[in-house]
Amino acid sequence: MVSRRILLGALMGVAAPALAFAEGDGHAPNLLTKKGRRTSSALRHQAGDKAALDKALAAVKPMEVEPPPAPAAPVQDVSPDEALGRLKQGNAIFARGGANLMLPTMARVADLSKGQKPFAVVIGCADSRTAPELVFDCNLGELFVIRVAGSTVGREGLGSIVYAVEHLGAPLIVVLGHTKCGAVGAAVDVAKKHAELHGALHEMVLPIIPAVLEADETHPADLQDAAIRRNVRDIAGRLKVADGVLAERIEEGRLKVVSACYDLTTGVVAFDA
Ligand SMILES: [Zn+2]
Repeated sequence: MVSRRILLGALMGVAAPALAFAEGDGHAPNLLTKKGRRTSSALRHQAGDKAALDKALAAVKPMEVEPPPAPAAPVQDVSPDEALGRLKQGNAIFARGGANLMLPTMARVADLSKGQKPFAVVIGCADSRTAPELVFDCNLGELFVIRVAGSTVGREGLGSIVYAVEHLGAPLIVVLGHTKCGAVGAAVDVAKKHAELHGALHEMVLPIIPAVLEADETHPADLQDAAIRRNVRDIAGRLKVADGVLAERIEEGRLKVVSACYDLTTGVVAFDA
């Protein structure tokens, strides 16, 4: 039986007998006598080791070297429906626990440095549990993401969206809310319980309040949940007419705007389209 260390030594190009000794195979590492001449016993050991090594090497398959990663596939133009289908498929994979956890290869990173062509814009909540790249099983360069607590869109956010559509050619905008959204919950407290928020927090919640009031008119069993869904639908509706470029592309069939809600418990995104 040839020890693993001998095999390893052979594969690494290191003197096998010395490694065998290190593992305790009983051979002296110093094959030279004090006078610098090889003893016949040592030479026999060496010859025996060499035969064993040759036999072992014959049985060892050559190491399989991974081929270099293929460069990222050229990005094709996709239609709004194809982009939506990709997101749905990606989320289905994520929600059944099969998400691709592969980090981008450095070849892909380098390739992306030449330019980006994201296939969707996602407006999401800043909530740490709702990262769009993860819940849609996407990677670098695929999604153009804007995230603010409550998934709201200010002027700067709108500018980012228009840029992604006009200059990067994104064919789909998804406004993504999520269950148990704390920002919407705070808006419900402000609208219904007259809770007071200070400064920037108040400004963050303010754009969500109309959705809370609209949802409240339907007397839902769960106002926060109803407001979450109403909020993203309202934002999607407003986006369609918020900018001439977006409206034009929608008219031409080159852009879709849809709302959706991510379920924190199941990992499933429910699309409104
Ligand atoms: Zn949230």
